[in-house]
Amino acid sequence: MESKKKQITIAGIITFAGGVLNKLGYTNEYIESHYNEWAVEGRKSPNDYLWYLFNRELNNVEGLTIEQLYNKNSAIYYTMGHFVMKYENGDRNHYTRLAFEADLNRYVEESKDSDYQLEVVMVHGNNCEHIRALDGQTRTPQEMLAWQPLASRECTNPTGCNCCYSLVPKRDTNGRLVRKSSKD
Ligand SMILES: [Zn+2]
Repeated sequence: MESKKKQITIAGIITFAGGVLNKLGYTNEYIESHYNEWAVEGRKSPNDYLWYLFNRELNNVEGLTIEQLYNKNSAIYYTMGHFVMKYENGDRNHYTRLAFEADLNRYVEESKDSDYQLEVVMVHGNNCEHIRALDGQTRTPQEMLAWQPLASRECTNPTGCNCCYSLVPKRDTNGRLVRKSSKD
């Protein structure tokens, strides 16, 4: 496993994960200068440094609402999935699934706050026959959380699942939004 890893560089981290890290408040300058502080006592691998940054942020709950926390963790897990696929020959779907789980947990929270009924749809990416076959199926956020068909073992995309969930308002047969209290 170890031998199959491709090493990333610090410049590579900025190119590859700068988007998500900048949003978390890490400037490119900080990513570079903090590496020099971190890379002591035999710790030198930029790969390990990126894992450290990811894990540090996953554990950082400071000042966040529950929705913001799930949103942040989803972005981190999704990027981790890309990273293991591209650099470490790892299982992208393992991390993508964690990202999706965070999304679904956020949808559960958002739907609690909504006056209208919300439902989760699946948007299939390229090369995913498994999810294409499930096209048009919807579930409540709770039900989708229990099911989680995306980024599963059935996923047929050789580069990992690039489908996603989306939270949409439920509509009745006339296309109108459905209030939570209404019975059809
Ligand atoms: Zn898929």
